[in-house]
Amino acid sequence: MSSVRVRFAPSPTGFFHIGSARTALFNWLYARHTGGKFILRIEDTDKERNSEEYLKVILDSLRWLGMDWDEGPDVGGDFGPYFQSQRTELYKAKLQELVKLGKAYEKDGAWWLRLDGKRSTVFDDHLKKEIEKVEAAPMVLDDLVRGRVERAEDRDFVLFRSNGEPVFHFVNVVDDIEMKITHVIRGEDHLSNTSKHLEIFKAFGVKPPEYAHIPLILKTDGPGKMSKRDRGALIEEYQNKNYLPSAVRNYLCLLGWTPADGKEILPIDEVIKQFELKAIHQSNARFDEKKMSHINAQTLRALPASEFVAIAKPILQNANILNDNVSDARLAEVLSIIQEKVNSLEHLPEFVGFFFNNDFKKDEAAFANLTKKGGEPTARVREILVHLQSIEWNVAAIEAAFNAAGTEHSRKPTDFFAPVRFAVSGQGGGAHLIGVLHALGRDLTLARLQSFIA
Ligand code: GLU
Repeated sequence: MSSVRVRFAPSPTGFFHIGSARTALFNWLYARHTGGKFILRIEDTDKERNSEEYLKVILDSLRWLGMDWDEGPDVGGDFGPYFQSQRTELYKAKLQELVKLGKAYEKDGAWWLRLDGKRSTVFDDHLKKEIEKVEAAPMVLDDLVRGRVERAEDRDFVLFRSNGEPVFHFVNVVDDIEMKITHVIRGEDHLSNTSKHLEIFKAFGVKPPEYAHIPLILKTDGPGKMSKRDRGALIEEYQNKNYLPSAVRNYLCLLGWTPADGKEILPIDEVIKQFELKAIHQSNARFDEKKMSHINAQTLRALPASEFVAIAKPILQNANILNDNVSDARLAEVLSIIQEKVNSLEHLPEFVGFFFNNDFKKDEAAFANLTKKGGEPTARVREILVHLQSIEWNVAAIEAAFNAAGTEHSRKPTDFFAPVRFAVSGQGGGAHLIGVLHALGRDLTLARLQSFIA
């Protein structure tokens, strides 16, 4: 068994966003890749900003994305409790340990870490090569703004505030020590905290974990970092839109990591097999909602038919698309026709509604296309109707009817497709038309063609 122990340590002070999900995922992947342990630790020391609601969203989202944790809330473990709010006594004891070692002292009611010498801003990181530059830049700026000469990193810093509350840096490191964390994989926004963390490890005389600070996620356009307020930033949005969790997870894997063969849609087992820290990109990733949507569509189309039916049925029921007359066999038949072209479960009700209801929505843009460039949709529908009226209703005969209409009017059979598709479904695209007509049935097809002409 591997000795790797990694943790995801969210603070429940806001909704669960893409960046947090990606950090959790990279930890989870590394644990599964190495056969180590994935620990979930809730950093809920900020009483003012924490909420039960946020905690619930974090746990739900992790479960939805299939990231199971080996130790943490609900599952327990040997190093609990896994809520920092329940570890206050431990933090006090650990502070006393430092006091005894002469590494912490009291001043103005707060407890400070005593630094011996300058704080080092240089450390090894699996991903970041120029720690010193990254680290020093904001401090220089800070010094200029405030007109100070003293470098921030040379100063002692607070471990426990005068109100008796421990600070983030202290509890974060104490828990990494106590929970025997071997690798800290977290967002680059924590780079500037790391030198403080290293000092705390040093004060305890404990070897620090290995670090991998993962680059930022930039928003779709522009130079900025993706923030919680950006469109598409929250995992919940994808849950609400009925994205497949496996597709969202697949996309998150690609935010800073590339599979060896460059193939972007791949099963999670394959990602686990390939995932190495050194393969994580060193440059920022850019969030691309279109790509996520594309991966979702491809994943939907590749689902086993029975699984697709099981997922689609409750969605169509909720949208009141299926009345009691629709049998499971009929539903499966229809879904098997459209699965190859489905784009999303969110729009599935509109996409298949016309099979089950006569008052389906008509896409105005699709209609406009029919009449563009001198198109005469009514004439085409009239011409094909003659040929469809008398045939036996099977795929070969329907196809033959289109060919016959084409021959009679010196047109390509496909000239009839768009008008017929619009007449029966109100759409400008969709699954292969002959299959659609066959599944729709003779009566409905002919009735809709007639009412289109009228
Ligand atoms: N609670 C911190 C955060 O949410 C965790 C920092 C860390 O991973 O060390 O950013």
